Amino acid sequence: MEAAAQFFVESPDVVYGPEAIEAQYEYRTTRVSREGGVLKVHPTSTSFTFRTARQVPRLGVMLVGWGGNNGSTFTAAVLANRLRLSWPTRSGRKEANYYGSLTQAGTVSLGLDAEGQEVFVPFSALLPMVAPNDLVFDGWDISSLNLAEAMRRAKVLDWGLQEQLWPHMEALRPRPSVYIPEFIAANQSARADNLIPGSRAQQLEQIRRDIRDFRSSAGLDKIIVLWTANTERFCEVIPGLNDTAENLLRTIELGLEVSPSTLFAVASILEGCAFLNGSPQNTLVPGALELAWQRRVFVGGDDFKSGQTKVKSVLVDFLIGSGLKTMSIVSYNHLGNNDGENLSAPLQFRSKEVSKSNVVDDMVQSNPVLYAPGEEPDHCVVIKYVPYVGDSKRALDEYTSELMLGGTNTLVLHNTCEDSLLAAPIMLDLALLTELCQRVSFCTDADPEPQTFHPVLSLLSFLFKAPLVPPGSPVVNALFRQRSCIENILRACVGLPPQNHMLLEHKME
Ligand code: NAD
Repeated sequence: MEAAAQFFVESPDVVYGPEAIEAQYEYRTTRVSREGGVLKVHPTSTSFTFRTARQVPRLGVMLVGWGGNNGSTFTAAVLANRLRLSWPTRSGRKEANYYGSLTQAGTVSLGLDAEGQEVFVPFSALLPMVAPNDLVFDGWDISSLNLAEAMRRAKVLDWGLQEQLWPHMEALRPRPSVYIPEFIAANQSARADNLIPGSRAQQLEQIRRDIRDFRSSAGLDKIIVLWTANTERFCEVIPGLNDTAENLLRTIELGLEVSPSTLFAVASILEGCAFLNGSPQNTLVPGALELAWQRRVFVGGDDFKSGQTKVKSVLVDFLIGSGLKTMSIVSYNHLGNNDGENLSAPLQFRSKEVSKSNVVDDMVQSNPVLYAPGEEPDHCVVIKYVPYVGDSKRALDEYTSELMLGGTNTLVLHNTCEDSLLAAPIMLDLALLTELCQRVSFCTDADPEPQTFHPVLSLLSFLFKAPLVPPGSPVVNALFRQRSCIENILRACVGLPPQNHMLLEHKME
């Protein structure tokens, strides 16, 4: 299959104009009502017109925590691909690629050809998307190391690759950042040598200036800000402090308690830049969400869904979806990178524990045959810091489920991999999909006024452990439901029906 495969939908419902792709789309779903103990299901249909602007912008990505393992690895990955680098390893030469990225290495089926075989194209071919090699990077870090030194400190990439990247990474230097010691572990203080001075209000202004400076100096059309700095402790949501946009802005003005990540979120929103939170803490407090809503700026979070949680959101979906009653899920992790050291402090661990623990809720709630109201499996998460293993995180999981007639099934999984090599392609997808969503608008027959997606961009749920969704919207954790959501919405934008996997063509005589 050609990596750059192009396709066109030939249908009266799809118009490829010079500026936009416009597609008419019938959204068929059902509404359910309860009447006297009986469920009544009503099929419904809504006519949508989707419009996707075709012009792809020059996109900048600003990473908070740029000098960390994820930040340096993401930057290195894009440079290595742009420069088409290859390097020797003990198992032969390796070439730069984007494995692990849904948009770059995942595919979608367009349908069947004349021989009845499915035709696949890369996910990125569905709609015009920014090419990853064209991304421009900038960012902040409380540690002043340049990106080459940060890459060496991270110990993620093969030496031969590091050597080739060094001259390209050396000139990249994180901007000073906001350090508020009580939000991250005390063990991080030694690297905090690159700080924005002043009051919270002055720090907010400096971040905004940084964004504007990057936009103009790099000649960008758009910037997306991504938090990939250390996990912070949770921030208490207090009426009057951070519960509304107005109160949050006043809190910053008065120098009252606000986390660094929330400060970055507010600065991004005020600059009209989407803000995505890759760590588990509650950065997007109600006041920040309200601000995003008022300014019509996309926000997304929380916590990259990379390894163990991704597996969990497949495995528990498989178990419960098969009718097995999962009753115990125990997850041990040990890792030796700086993230692991930060998470060895109780309050930062707590943020991660919460984000990892809610991931099976939707699957349990989806099955009232197995689980009585309020019943849920035991779910325990342990994280330990073991310096020797570095970025090579180990995740050990045990799932115990009840079988029929009193049987028990225990599954044990051991997962080892470089954590940052899993996270970097997710960061890439987040940036590309968020940017694409900014170019999509739609209207319905009932409401012809064009609108965009809700500012809380739940379409990104596939990429987050604890997905943020608009108020009242169900949280979906099951991985393939999340993937179908992205795929089917992008398909709708080119007038294609949802992927239903029925293959009825092959089930007829
Ligand atoms: P890291 O410790 O290597 O990098 C974090 C960087 O953030 C460090 O360079 C640190 O100096 C910097 N930093 C801390 N506070 C800052 C602030 N206020 N402003 C700017 N910079 C600041 O960690 P990592 O492995 O790159 O992970 C980053 C985050 O992503 C962590 O919170 C981690 O829990 C989260 N995460 C990682 C994965 C994964 O697979 N790697 C998955 C999910 C979530």
